Amino acid sequence: MNAIHAELAHEQLVVLNPATQETIGSVPVFAPDEVAAAVERARAAQPLWAAKPIRERLALIRRFQELLCAQKDAVSAVITREAGKPLGEALSTEVLVVLDGAQYLLDNAAEFLLPEHVPHANLAMKLKRGTLLREPYGVFGIISPWNYPFSLPSVQALTALAMGNAVVLKPSEFTPFTSLELQRLLRDAGLSADLLQVVTGAGATGGALLQAKIDKMIFTGSVATGKKVAQAAAARLLPVILELGGKDPMIVLDDADVDVASSAAVWGAFMNAGQTCLSVERCYVHESIYEKFLAACTAKAGKLRPGNGADPNTDIGPMIHARQLATVKAHVQDAVARGARVLAGGAPLPQLGPNFFAPTLLADVTHQMDIMREETFGPVLPVCSFKTDDEAVALANDSEFGLAASVFTGNKSRGEQLARRINAGTVMVNDVICCFGISEAPHGGIKASGIGRTHGRYGLEEMVWPKYVDSDQMPKMKKLWWYGYGPAFRSQMQGFIELLFTRNLTNRVRGAAKSIQSYLGRKLF
Ligand code: NAD
Repeated sequence: MNAIHAELAHEQLVVLNPATQETIGSVPVFAPDEVAAAVERARAAQPLWAAKPIRERLALIRRFQELLCAQKDAVSAVITREAGKPLGEALSTEVLVVLDGAQYLLDNAAEFLLPEHVPHANLAMKLKRGTLLREPYGVFGIISPWNYPFSLPSVQALTALAMGNAVVLKPSEFTPFTSLELQRLLRDAGLSADLLQVVTGAGATGGALLQAKIDKMIFTGSVATGKKVAQAAAARLLPVILELGGKDPMIVLDDADVDVASSAAVWGAFMNAGQTCLSVERCYVHESIYEKFLAACTAKAGKLRPGNGADPNTDIGPMIHARQLATVKAHVQDAVARGARVLAGGAPLPQLGPNFFAPTLLADVTHQMDIMREETFGPVLPVCSFKTDDEAVALANDSEFGLAASVFTGNKSRGEQLARRINAGTVMVNDVICCFGISEAPHGGIKASGIGRTHGRYGLEEMVWPKYVDSDQMPKMKKLWWYGYGPAFRSQMQGFIELLFTRNLTNRVRGAAKSIQSYLGRKLF
């Protein structure tokens, strides 16, 4: 059994620190009936929550934000202890993202939920007033991965709650304590216990959540599990958001600043030990600056300090578990066997612990190698050169994934033009990854990277279903399209269609006359 966790006979999940292998603690494995009961409690509590004015729900989110801000060090320490990332990253990519996500809700949620007037263009419908309302689904199930154990489920849960939903969250079996921190903070902020419940466990507990009476699921994780989730959801017509893997390309154009682009590539590939869905997983550099770029990346990779994330001097923490490290090792070995050059790293660092892998720079990679096709999810920066912008775009788009991408150039408009040609949910010009920290930006991918969006206005829309209410302004009038059919009705409709859609003005006037005349000859019942 994997060294990181083990399900014991008495149904406890033991959680280990990936840097030290020390036991952090254990959490219960929720059985299917316990998951179903949690969902039932959430369902019972949700209507009262949804009935509260939005400002009351937001007041709670504001209190949560204050508590998190005050307890940022304690929360980031929990994240680092079970996910391995450096403390500074736990603050910058987790706590800060959640604080800003909460602020986005405070600034936008109330206006978003205002009834929206829907004007009608069709002449026949002018005497009706349309209004779009946004209704909470009810109970959201959230299943989360271990790589961003705080920012991912927290922003999703806060958004769902702000919209009037209840949440049952199944965190990764590798990082449950971070989700328990979220639960604690929300309860301390005054949220009723049933409105956000954490059900700990591994895949089976996630499967049980999918079968329970939730109204919508947000799944974040691998493509393989995402497909299983989609199948289970399809069987019961459960709406799902799937935030899946990525193989994000970075394109460095001939006019890019090599110093800036190489720093971005090194950070983009090695941050969180490369275990980021938005990591730079493929790097394409114009041939005119290729060697210079590689030299800069080699020097910068050499300066990075792998170690325990709890040490403030650490740049790169451990990988989450040995299975993840084995994938990275296999991808590097495959690339080397097919002709890639290792310019830095290339192997595990067993002297630091079983989960450490050296920051690795590979040159001259090709699309025949696994490292350019499959999600590596480790501290590897594979680089190859290109000759033309068209070739770079073709290489970037030659992937089954489509989460995000980046373009580096000295010419912003050239970068923005190229961005339009890349098939990905997000394209950044002259930066990487940080789109996840822009709360207004929709997060999500196309192709195998998933379905749906979280964050920003699209993220709000996913948490509600649209209800259209139409109110007729002439309640005492029978409608022209009701029964009372016959030749006159047909003639009325012919004239009406001509009035609305023929281009010729004379025909339109004739159509209007025909329609009115026919209508007057009808007897509606
Ligand atoms: P994973 O698919 O192994 O597990 C994700 C979650 O699903 C865990 O909580 C797990 O317990 C649960 N699970 C496993 N089997 C299940 C089943 N049959 N039914 C229901 N739930 C089940 O993924 P992981 O290793 O935890 O995370 C890494 C992956 O997540 C990478 O592919 C990464 O790209 C992806 N990811 C995507 C995003 C995004 O926003 N697109 C963000 C972070 C991570």
